[in-house]
Amino acid sequence: QSLGDVLVVDDDPILRAIAESHFEKRGAASVRTAGDGVQALSLLDEATQQPGFLLCDLNMPNMDGIEFLRHLEKRKFNGAISILSGEHDSVIALAESLAKTHRLNIVGTLKKPLNAEKLDKVIAAAAVKQAIPGPNSSTLVTVSDLRDAISSQQIVPYYQPKVDVRTGIIVGAEALARWHHPEWGMIFPGHFIPMAENYDLISGVTDIIFRQALNDVARWAALGQKLTCSVNLSVDNLDNISLPNELADRVDAAGLSRSQFVLEVTESSLLEKAATPMEVLARLRMMGFDLSIDDFGTGGSNIENLRDFPFSELKIDQSFVGKMAEDAFAQASVKASVDLGKQLGLRLVAEGVETASVRDFVTQLGVDQIQGYLVGKPVEAETFLQWLRGRRAS
Ligand code: C2E
Ligand code: CA
Ligand code: CA
Repeated sequence: QSLGDVLVVDDDPILRAIAESHFEKRGAASVRTAGDGVQALSLLDEATQQPGFLLCDLNMPNMDGIEFLRHLEKRKFNGAISILSGEHDSVIALAESLAKTHRLNIVGTLKKPLNAEKLDKVIAAAAVKQAIPGPNSSTLVTVSDLRDAISSQQIVPYYQPKVDVRTGIIVGAEALARWHHPEWGMIFPGHFIPMAENYDLISGVTDIIFRQALNDVARWAALGQKLTCSVNLSVDNLDNISLPNELADRVDAAGLSRSQFVLEVTESSLLEKAATPMEVLARLRMMGFDLSIDDFGTGGSNIENLRDFPFSELKIDQSFVGKMAEDAFAQASVKASVDLGKQLGLRLVAEGVETASVRDFVTQLGVDQIQGYLVGKPVEAETFLQWLRGRRAS
């Protein structure tokens, strides 16, 4: 994945030279350097295209990194930013959190001395967060593109089947957001959900996914297939105290059953245990929605933590499931998650099942449902519907 244009801001000329040659080696479209914030801002003003990646020192003459980042916010800079500094860890952490409150896209922090390995780490993080497969390698999605995409319904759900391991029957599907961009084609959620979360646009995304999911669940029902539909929620969705009522009203109006909707929340988003998210989850469950803990095993929560939440399903993260056939640690993690889920009386879902051997493993461990490429990749609503039709006919 190409880096696009890169800007390096640091008062140390040797560091600038090291960074410049490294970014060039990694395929940056261009690399420019500045010795302080003032120079960097004038470079940004001259540029026809905003850099996709910015490496920024904190302690510099004339204008330091903290002030520079504040200017970037004013300019609505949305490229990936990595902070680089020789300051104490706590100073770097503070600068990072300041930048995040400015809604800048910080992809990582680096402690000096700089080396190739550290740079590669933030380059990889930036690729995940920002770059999208565009007409030229440096195309970057902007916040206003995303806003337009939401209002013009370019975001659609793809559906991936969930299958009961005992019967082999499809019991439901997970709705996974895709952006159908008119010029650039399909964009995966990894490239726009983080931005939607950072710029307060996630409720718009959830709204269109849920709207279409309602419609599609009704179409499946018309084929005589009463399937569940899983919808992903971000932690910010849980800050909306009226969410439970809104969703319940819509499901009721569509004449569907609330228990057909499984709301997935990642394990890591639960760790804060703030009052509003707890209340929203409790009310969703009381109203009859199904709740699922997503990416289980990656958030480091313990059983006490989970007992307090009203979940009905646990999804074991694909990073463990995917390699459990050859990795003893992954296998032990899956087994531990299954044991925990069973103790808590939860339905267990293994995601990322790609091979028959992994399917057999998780079946043996007592997992209830599987989801993964072995059964089917996420597909467009129409394709999923055709597929259900075909299954009914056979
Ligand atoms: P997730 O909820 O963990 O979704 C599962 C991801 O694993 C999906 O990636 C799916 O395509 C992929 N996957 C499924 N089976 C396999 C398999 O067998 N092997 C491999 N390698 N991958 C598999 P996708 O669609 O790119 O979604 C990425 C993430 O984006 C999702 O992870 C979810 O966290 C987020 N996301 C997607 N749609 C929404 C949405 O509407 N709202 C929010 N808040 N987040 C969403
Ligand atoms: Ca999910
Ligand atoms: Ca997951």
